[in-house]
Amino acid sequence: MLFLFFLSIKYSIAGNNNILFNEVLPGILVYNGKNEEPNYINQGAIANKVAIIGNKFILVYDAGSSKKFAENFIKELRKYSNNPIKYLVVSHRHFDHAYGIEAYIFNKTTIYMDKTEYFYLKKEGPLINNLLIKNFGLDKNNIDFSNISEKSINFIDDKIEVNLGNRKVLIQNMGVGHTKGDLIVYDYNAKTYIMGDLVFNGRAAAFSDADIPSWIKVLKNKLVLPWYFLVPGHGPVIKNKLALDDTKNWLQFLDKSLRNAILQGDMISEIFQYPMPKEVEHLRMKSLTLRQGLKKQLNLYKKKYIE
Ligand SMILES: [Zn+2]
Repeated sequence: MLFLFFLSIKYSIAGNNNILFNEVLPGILVYNGKNEEPNYINQGAIANKVAIIGNKFILVYDAGSSKKFAENFIKELRKYSNNPIKYLVVSHRHFDHAYGIEAYIFNKTTIYMDKTEYFYLKKEGPLINNLLIKNFGLDKNNIDFSNISEKSINFIDDKIEVNLGNRKVLIQNMGVGHTKGDLIVYDYNAKTYIMGDLVFNGRAAAFSDADIPSWIKVLKNKLVLPWYFLVPGHGPVIKNKLALDDTKNWLQFLDKSLRNAILQGDMISEIFQYPMPKEVEHLRMKSLTLRQGLKKQLNLYKKKYIE
């Protein structure tokens, strides 16, 4: 009974979303998602989201896990600025980043997303949402996919710059990596990258829908602007370039293991027995992330390297 009481308190916190922002730099608000699986209590609010406030407009990076989350996010944002939310960048289709999109469609926000990612959002979304509701306790009214149509989205396959009023911001499609097309943002004023799920800090990066070799290349070659701060999709803000090694080392370990498995004809259960290099030992949610991603990736690697 007592447990239920606490559960209901906690739920009301996540549900009404006492959204707490961390103003990491002037005009850059970060909502730090919890480094955990989606559940009834967190309602899927597990990824980081960012708002950049300019003199005239606001840009929001990632919509969050539900319409309700996005509405609460916007409400909380109003404590900092009444400027219109002119832009929403949806980094990719995954639920914890994209499923709050309706709130921004209703607000007539200009929304940017990769075209293929939008296609998968519509195609796979309803099924994934049902799983989230059934297996992870997310709310039934998370998202209504019928309210989301192509005419509300601006597809971006390269890059553009927008001005938020004394604040120039770059929106760039980094191409295939964590997904079919990951959008990132760079704020020139604060020299800050907002990377979405191309970067995980302290946690094993989710890789089910990834192209791992091309993701490694993105991290190696495409972070060309000078930066002091980098906001990952999950985990605390990064100030030191060495923190990028969490994602790089993990991806390299996956790539090596998958190639090795193919070479030796190993099965998934055998990959689990491979020794982990000590550089990835400290990462959280390793075995869960492996379980979620290995099957699909092993098939992809087979197609690529054998057939
Ligand atoms: Zn993701």
